[in-house]
Amino acid sequence: MVHDSRDRELGTHRRITRRDFINGVAVTAGAAMMPWHLLGDEPAGPDKSPDYYPPALTGLRGSHPGSFETVHSLRDGTFWDEAGKPVDTGETYDLIIVGGGISGLSAAHFYRKTAGAKARILILDNHDDFGGHAKRNEFRVNNSFRLGFGGTFSIESPAPYSAIAKSVIEELGIDVPSYSKYLHRDLYRSLGLHPRIFFDKETFGTDKLVLNFNPRGGNESGDAERSSSDLLKQFLADAPLAEQAKRDLQRLYQDPKDYFPGLTSDQKKAKLARVSYASYLKEIAVVHEDIVKMYQAQPHPLFGVGIDAVSAQDAWGFDLPGFSGLKLDPAPGKGMNRDAIPNEEAEKYFFHFPDGNATIARLLVRKLIPDAIPGNAMDDAVMAKANYAKLDDAGSPVRIRLNSTAVRVRHLGDLASAREVEVAYARGGKAYTARAKSSILACWHVVIPYLCEDLSDKQKQALASAQKVPLLYTNVALRNWTSFQKLKTNSVYAPGMYHTFVNLDLPVSIGGYECARKPEEPIVVHMMKAACHPGRPARDQHRMGRMELFSTTFETMERKIRDQLARTLGPGGFDPARDIAAITVNRWPHGYAYEYNSLFDSFWLDGGETPCEIARRPFGRIAIANSDAGAYAYTDEAINHAWRAVGEITKS
Ligand SMILES: Cc1cc2nc3c(=O)[nH]c(=O)nc-3n(C[C@H](O)[C@H](O)[C@H](O)COP(=O)(O)OP(=O)(O)OC[C@H]3O[C@@H](n4cnc5c(N)ncnc54)[C@H](O)[C@@H]3O)c2cc1C
Repeated sequence: MVHDSRDRELGTHRRITRRDFINGVAVTAGAAMMPWHLLGDEPAGPDKSPDYYPPALTGLRGSHPGSFETVHSLRDGTFWDEAGKPVDTGETYDLIIVGGGISGLSAAHFYRKTAGAKARILILDNHDDFGGHAKRNEFRVNNSFRLGFGGTFSIESPAPYSAIAKSVIEELGIDVPSYSKYLHRDLYRSLGLHPRIFFDKETFGTDKLVLNFNPRGGNESGDAERSSSDLLKQFLADAPLAEQAKRDLQRLYQDPKDYFPGLTSDQKKAKLARVSYASYLKEIAVVHEDIVKMYQAQPHPLFGVGIDAVSAQDAWGFDLPGFSGLKLDPAPGKGMNRDAIPNEEAEKYFFHFPDGNATIARLLVRKLIPDAIPGNAMDDAVMAKANYAKLDDAGSPVRIRLNSTAVRVRHLGDLASAREVEVAYARGGKAYTARAKSSILACWHVVIPYLCEDLSDKQKQALASAQKVPLLYTNVALRNWTSFQKLKTNSVYAPGMYHTFVNLDLPVSIGGYECARKPEEPIVVHMMKAACHPGRPARDQHRMGRMELFSTTFETMERKIRDQLARTLGPGGFDPARDIAAITVNRWPHGYAYEYNSLFDSFWLDGGETPCEIARRPFGRIAIANSDAGAYAYTDEAINHAWRAVGEITKS
């Protein structure tokens, strides 16, 4: 491979560490390229090998190579020609679940409560690891062990967890109120670190890191000593924004206007629900383009799109500036996204494990297959090493079969009188079948029309409308974070860069896991990218973003990561070639569940049945779960719909 001098500076030529290379990138490729055909007719695979340990893999993870090709060939109509007639495994189960995310794992948990612990359950998942979006990334840097979250970050939801979702959290032994015991809340503040904004030269004319005065209301800068107006003043002095933009920003905050005089609060909210925040800023508040650019990526972590595709009403809910002069009634307006409606009770229900909600997935697996995850308490799960060879064990009533993509789910016989369903799945390039009394599809809804040909067109259309939000959750293991300390930051918003958020790991120590507390120690830096394409309707942006993520190589992503960290942290002494120990890009072309949006989904404003209600209707012995079933990208919804789906198949 030819490297230019910039590549050399960035360190793209470096083998990250020998161990990372052997256990990481090389093994990722190896797992996908395992000679499955040597394994005969048994649906065995690499997951029985003692070396099989996906959490330690680096490189391109999330929807990794090997996980999506089968479903794409099913979509393209080529799968059955290539796979041929499926081999009957002869296996029969009470329940076969498609999807080993939190919804699928919870469905198995609920089913056992109703049908008993001896109920035979098979869970199929197309990835090489369980947990769905709730994935764990492990790193070893020098002698330090570091965890990162590959997807689902924490127990949190804009609305309070339902009684059923809370009951699962409690049964797993997770004591949410005890969170403060594990969090080193003041660590970064005690080192003088504050959130900052990185202005890039392509978007703002120069590369500059500036104190984040508080782009989302409240004093979030972490600087308790200074008032919001002092911080704004400093920001205006430092930020590379046009002079007019600075005056406009000051006006938005300090000279609020009523842009709709004579309208009632409800009438104003109805207008705001139909206009994007970007248009509101440009056309109603009439601010300089730099302000729009600065706020553009602010909603990425919640919606995976920018302010061009988020309503002004939702922006008001998030405390973005420009609304105080409207004197709106604080009650939520019609068509507001649930994320935009503040809820104090929900805000308090928060818990972040170092691997995010992968710990929930691991605790569920422990309940279903105790031998797979040693231990018996919430804390000890964090450091427990999963034994993947135990996941699909013939002696266990519950089996989790990884690297296995469901390709067809159908009733054996007439829908009304069938007593069994048959699930066909592909593993290692071959198709197999197994039978069960019922099936729960806890997988992504867009896949289901390709699995169940017998569904009505109306239901298929509703399922297909659940366009997932494409995202990258990137974890970069650094040998130290002294550059963050020198630049006095722990969190950077970068509206013009490839990854728009860069954060030092949330400092949590639990169950023998010790997070980094000294800047000289290795740490995991989390970077987030929403693959959006501004200016188009949200679903179109998601489709384009998905294609973008599937077609971008890891090498391209790595170069962008190294370049971004070098430009942001270089003035603090950061050297990407020296300081980066490992990179794991968790690529989620099918990320968050699509949430309804008053700009593009008229039913969300006008009322009526929502697509997710049509999509999740049971079909004979087949029920449908997943967070898509609630059009709500949160763990509690994945659990709620597992509960409903189990109720549907067990009620007769
Ligand atoms: C990057 C990211 C961050 C998130 N952060 C949070 C957070 O902090 N808090 C929160 O509450 N929620 C978060 N979420 C939302 C998260 O999706 C839900 O919380 C929850 O984990 C979803 O669980 P699920 O089981 O419904 O779906 P998933 O986790 O997506 O699991 C579905 C599984 O089905 C598999 N599948 C699909 N098709 C097939 C097939 N044909 N055969 C076999 N298997 C198949 C999929 O590959 C996947 O593994 C996040 C999501 C993403 C993508």
